[in-house]
Amino acid sequence: MRIGCGYDSHRLAEGRRLIIGGVEIPFPRGLAGHSDADVLCHAIMDAVIGALGVGDIGTHFPDTDPRWKNAVSLELLKYIVELARMSGYRVAWVDSTVLAEQPRLAPHIEGMKVALSQTGIPEQCINIKAKTNEGMGFVGRGEGIAAYAVCLLDKI
Ligand code: MG
Repeated sequence: MRIGCGYDSHRLAEGRRLIIGGVEIPFPRGLAGHSDADVLCHAIMDAVIGALGVGDIGTHFPDTDPRWKNAVSLELLKYIVELARMSGYRVAWVDSTVLAEQPRLAPHIEGMKVALSQTGIPEQCINIKAKTNEGMGFVGRGEGIAAYAVCLLDKI
């Protein structure tokens, strides 16, 4: 078995769609980034990449590469889950936490699990928790959203 942890954060900006865990969430601002800036997908990707011991998200999808401009992060995660499979591992468990002062994410968690399961990680093997940051720091001031993830890989 292998374990990995991942973290990501993105700035909230006007004129962007807010996509978290593969789900578009109605909100006046969205996350800024080279791709769709899906902070939860990115944290999970780094957790899986870390467990595989093959660098980080930037190694596989450099933000200088125009191929990944506005990329759908769900597709990138799918690629990483497939990379794990090709390396002889299945994603046995993902636990994650998204930190956002606003909007309230709880109503979207089930939808995120369904969306994330399109990447090959079984829906019943994904846990997502949503928290605010109690008004503290960049999350608390509504400047951005952050996510943490851990994953367990199991030898196939
Ligand atoms: Mg990111």
